[in-house]
Amino acid sequence: MAHNEAVDVVLVGAGIMSATLAVLLKELDPAIKLEVVELMDSGAAESSNPWNNAGTGHAGLCELNYTPQAADGTVDIKKAVHINTQFEVSKQFWSYLTKKGTFGSCKSFISPVPHLSFVQGDSGVSFLKSRFDVLSKHHAFADMEYTEDKAKMAEWMPLMMPGRSPDEVLAATRVMNGTDVNFGALTNQLLKHLTSAPDTQVKYCKRVTGLKRNGSGWTVSIKDVNNGNTREVDAKFVFLGAGGAALPLLQASGIEESKGFGGFPISGQWLRCDNPEVVKQHQAKVYSQAAVGSPPMSVPHLDTRVVDGKKSLLFGPYAGFTTKFLKHGSFMDLPLSVRAGNIGPMLAVAKNNMDLTKYLVSEVMQSMEQRLDSLRRFYPEAKAEDWRLEVAGQRVQIIKKDPKKGGILQFGTELVSAKDGSLAALLGASPGASVTVSIMLELIEKCFPAKAKGEWAGKLAEIFPAREKVLETDAALYRKINTQNNIALELVEESSETPSYA
Ligand SMILES: Cc1cc2nc3c(=O)[nH]c(=O)nc-3n(C[C@H](O)[C@H](O)[C@H](O)COP(=O)(O)OP(=O)(O)OC[C@H]3O[C@@H](n4cnc5c(N)ncnc54)[C@H](O)[C@@H]3O)c2cc1C
Repeated sequence: MAHNEAVDVVLVGAGIMSATLAVLLKELDPAIKLEVVELMDSGAAESSNPWNNAGTGHAGLCELNYTPQAADGTVDIKKAVHINTQFEVSKQFWSYLTKKGTFGSCKSFISPVPHLSFVQGDSGVSFLKSRFDVLSKHHAFADMEYTEDKAKMAEWMPLMMPGRSPDEVLAATRVMNGTDVNFGALTNQLLKHLTSAPDTQVKYCKRVTGLKRNGSGWTVSIKDVNNGNTREVDAKFVFLGAGGAALPLLQASGIEESKGFGGFPISGQWLRCDNPEVVKQHQAKVYSQAAVGSPPMSVPHLDTRVVDGKKSLLFGPYAGFTTKFLKHGSFMDLPLSVRAGNIGPMLAVAKNNMDLTKYLVSEVMQSMEQRLDSLRRFYPEAKAEDWRLEVAGQRVQIIKKDPKKGGILQFGTELVSAKDGSLAALLGASPGASVTVSIMLELIEKCFPAKAKGEWAGKLAEIFPAREKVLETDAALYRKINTQNNIALELVEESSETPSYA
């Protein structure tokens, strides 16, 4: 075997996470030498592909599961506020890159689409009203509108109102400055930008098959998926941005911090409509409430999607179960991830989540007619011939140890890193792509603490004039940054500050 090549950083996977981290590191240190290794023949081939996720620029504007209601009726808005400000951090990075001029147009990946929440029945209406009352007092949600007036709802959601009984009890909120994001286009734009810089390589059709400690760094084994040739690369830092497949690679690293983690894969399906007559009647992302007993990622929504300049509608997701960790993965992924250290938490999760199992079985067993019935709760006059079923990306939810329950299922994301900062992995799925930049900044602070506070501090402050914490509390600064981002990303017209729809 040839003598190992050496780089500063190896990033496994060419999804939105690795692409973002690679570009960020190169901005902070133009001399850094890095290699992205991807097993498919292009970037964004798994969850970051625009048709594998919903493309919602998650900002807490419409997702009802981000604002849980306690038994006494109070609505907790902490999570919605945090995700909103994390999304503003992502927008600062995209604005910075767009202003550079060499990055390309932001119109290819971000489009203004209003975000609405829609509820049915007395308890839904009472929840939405309480949510609106608290949320609209926060500066990040000050523009939210609320209505129980069906004529207004018909203006906001013209596709969704005809065909309903006049007795239906309904309410909705709307925020005009929501977004649809084509995370696939963004990923590929980031990768293209990356490879225009020296000392950076993106290698496709190459699978990372192993990792071993090498002094203070790592030796990464890489196999060419076409001809089976292998090579090894030495790296000071490794990022496991392999999406659902990050867990087995983390386990292969053997780091202490990997112990006890397991994965629970949930697949998804959508109904998609490309009929322009239908599509033109809906210009919104409308989120509702999940059925009782179902997991948070099953919240139904009817979305305008803008992909490669064309509009479509997407409805779902319908969940399913598979043992694959990637859409293009292997059915052996789940069984091969079982270890002595995670079997306890995995069995505890299986025992304590019977509701989820029942829910997944019922979702898998659904007929097309039953799927259309769910769609008709949103769009009563939906015709079967306008909609087709598509397979979405895989979400591998995190299973981890819990001192009380033995093991818990976690629906967010978690950054797991080695104590010495030489390796990090991103586990989990949601809200994922929208908050990538915040997650990667957390990684930089954890794994490169001295540089983040020292030689990189000036550049970080230039790219990110305001981070999440200050945006959560400083209303004037939030408004300034939000306006600057919206103008830079062409989400509003500079003079009017009103959304400029795609
Ligand atoms: C159904 C669904 C809906 C979603 N909706 C939204 C949404 O509306 N908004 C939002 O913000 N987020 C959403 N998400 C989450 C979002 O899609 C993910 O958080 C994000 O795309 C993850 O990016 P990633 O780079 O970590 O992984 P991926 O995009 O999956 O990329 C991982 C890459 O690693 C490669 N890889 C794997 N193993 C190896 C290996 N051994 N060697 C080399 N390469 C390897 C894979 O081929 C893949 O290209 C959704 C996800 C799903 C599944």
